[in-house]
Amino acid sequence: MNVRDIFETMDYGPAPEDAKDARAWIEDRGGIAGHFINGTWSDLRHDFDTKNPATGEVLAGVTKGTDAEVAKAVAAARKAQPKWAKDAKARAKIMYAIARLMQKNARLLAVMETLDTGKPIREARDIDVPLTIRHFYHHAGFAQLMDSALPDAEALGVCGQIIPWNFPLLMLAWKIAPALAMGNTVVLKPAEYTPMTAMIFAEICTNAGVPPGVVNIVTGDGETGAALVQADVDKIAFTGSTAVGRLIREETAGSGKALSLELGGKSPYIVFDDADMDSAVEGLVDAIWFNGGQVCCAGSRLLVQEGIADRFYAKLKARMDALRMGDPLDKCIDIGAIVDPVQLQQITDMVAANTAGETYQSGAPEGCFYPPTLITGLAPSDTLMQEEIFGPVLAATTFRTPAEAVGIANNTRYGLAASVWTENVNLALDLAPKLVSGIVWINATNLMDAAAGFGGVRESGFGREGGWEGLQGYTRPKGKAAKLTPPAAFTSDDGTPADPLDRTAKLYIGGKQTRPDGGYSQPVFNKSGKLLGHASIANRKDLRNAVEAMSAAKGWSKSTGHLRAQILYYIGENLSARAAEFAARINALTGTKQGTAEVEAAIDTLFTWAAWADKHDGAAKGVPIRGVALAMNEPVGNIGILTDDTRPLMGLIDPMGPAIAMGNRITAVASEAFPLAATDFYQILDTSDVPAGVVNILTGPHADLAPHMAAHGNIDAVWSFSSADVSGVIEAKSISNLKRTWVNNGTSREWPSSTWRAQSTEVKTIWIPYGE
Ligand code: NDP
Repeated sequence: MNVRDIFETMDYGPAPEDAKDARAWIEDRGGIAGHFINGTWSDLRHDFDTKNPATGEVLAGVTKGTDAEVAKAVAAARKAQPKWAKDAKARAKIMYAIARLMQKNARLLAVMETLDTGKPIREARDIDVPLTIRHFYHHAGFAQLMDSALPDAEALGVCGQIIPWNFPLLMLAWKIAPALAMGNTVVLKPAEYTPMTAMIFAEICTNAGVPPGVVNIVTGDGETGAALVQADVDKIAFTGSTAVGRLIREETAGSGKALSLELGGKSPYIVFDDADMDSAVEGLVDAIWFNGGQVCCAGSRLLVQEGIADRFYAKLKARMDALRMGDPLDKCIDIGAIVDPVQLQQITDMVAANTAGETYQSGAPEGCFYPPTLITGLAPSDTLMQEEIFGPVLAATTFRTPAEAVGIANNTRYGLAASVWTENVNLALDLAPKLVSGIVWINATNLMDAAAGFGGVRESGFGREGGWEGLQGYTRPKGKAAKLTPPAAFTSDDGTPADPLDRTAKLYIGGKQTRPDGGYSQPVFNKSGKLLGHASIANRKDLRNAVEAMSAAKGWSKSTGHLRAQILYYIGENLSARAAEFAARINALTGTKQGTAEVEAAIDTLFTWAAWADKHDGAAKGVPIRGVALAMNEPVGNIGILTDDTRPLMGLIDPMGPAIAMGNRITAVASEAFPLAATDFYQILDTSDVPAGVVNILTGPHADLAPHMAAHGNIDAVWSFSSADVSGVIEAKSISNLKRTWVNNGTSREWPSSTWRAQSTEVKTIWIPYGE
């Protein structure tokens, strides 16, 4: 036997991690995973089992939280919140202590995570636990800095947090760390399959000096989660399936609860013909076989450039054959067990139902394991290219040109992450902004860090976790919102025209004045009952036309901030030239003397957003890799806006300024009671070089248009400042494409510039490792 033979026949010996301590930890605590409420273990019962999926052994009994128990936890969190919010620096100290104690208990946490989830100990030990600790350290720093860096922000209150089974400890950290740092208290529900590391975390909280009621953990299943959604919380933060995310969006609609959704994905992994193929193959091992593919941002759609596809698939298959699958506690194992037989069945059924392409599988042991699977030759529309499988299954297709790669990559209802593999940095950096996703990895995959935002667009949800951008989801601007009273439009019995000319304002769609589809209009009177003119009544067909116009104006989103700044200045100048006329119009419409002040405010707002248009910079995050993570601010897309009725001109300008400055296209519905100032504004837009379709203005009843706006699949966000009662319907109908919503729930307040900018942009995190 020569050296070569030895190398080729050598196998890995077993390197098992000892789970004795973790098992003893469970036994010492009575073998139950249950509620940690107000700093004590309470109502512990063995309602169902949590098992080690690799062996089927029962790890512990789990308590299923009832509505009353959830309410008790929320009440404890509510009571503890004001005091916790008071001293940011004290919070920082406690959070540092949590991080330290986690470091001290790192091995116990890793082993427990592996026992409960079936993930390889190598991953739990080297990825889940270190990233969790990093998250607490980083966010302890945010607590320390809150008073100086975010002086206008305050905590939301009590946050209900619901997490899935794929990264039980890491998701706990992503939820709890920012919430605590910003002065919120929490009630967290772990997934029913994986409650164990949350139990260790609760104990760490006690030892770190977290005051009772600040962190509460309620175990249970989906029903317990549903009870938490219904409970008296100020926010729900959810990570999990898109289906349950939709349900929660609907159930919280109109409640005033803040919501963040981190949902599923079908992330593309794009390999160009000049890529370093071996690295790209190794990257795929991480992209789709990390945690057995049970990862929301898994690179589960492989797009390979046609010329190298056969060679690439051959290399990939050889690598698949070398993957070691088995006992997750063995340190030499690459892929562990699937979390539960239910999930295994789901993966098995989805793959079995597929008849397209060619399937290649390497082996898997008996039990709750699924073999690494590659399915090549799929069409972009095939079910397995579109649906999230949440298992170790890679669906592959080919492309020819970069443009085609972008087209296929974006052909999905999701938008969480994407990987681009090429040695051509120009090509990679050209592609990154074109991919519709919250995260782009260049020559890398599955990189995550506490300093960098993580989250998606489209049906992958909204909100970011990590970084400064993640803190926005756990704060609100200081100051109280006032109740909004709808202004009543003036009426008249005689309707004598104030001006003998017929003045029927049309709609403004695609840069043109357009008659309403329904052919109806409504009279608008002044305070003394004189007719000021007619305003068109837009219907959903008009709205659809406006959406088409917005979509056709996509060029605006690619224009430079410099150009947008000039156009905003120009709008301001043109309004300024006609200030007196607009002021008089506003006075006539409202029967007040607010006109002059409102026009001045509008001009100032336009100049301010002109100034911001080329200054809302992104950031280069100092993540702990050799490289940077860019936080790039991108426009949200098409935004539908129901404007503030009380301010006929500012109601339009307030949201229009930031929205178009940041590159969005808008369709705004004018003040319902006083629509004619917004319709006069068409002429200003026409004379200010605003490209057609960037600003579209409709008039008509907000309540009629709101549901259509919220349900439209090509509107990316809906904002409502309306005094009509439309917040609930907007949130409920937004589930069609899970668009972002920003509604006022019948109140009004002055929003700081930072909120306008955050609402007008999506942060895309682009990871760029460097070095040879
Ligand atoms: P779910 O979305 O059902 O679970 C996520 C969390 O929500 C869990 O804590 C769950 O509780 C809880 N939950 C379930 N129903 C409700 C409800 N009605 N109201 C409030 N909370 C609820 O995911 P599953 O665990 O059922 O997995 C199903 C599929 O979801 C997977 O096959 C996968 O495709 C996808 N998934 C996606 C994840 C992601 O990060 N994108 C993560 C996990 C799953 P409990 O676990 O106790 O039922």
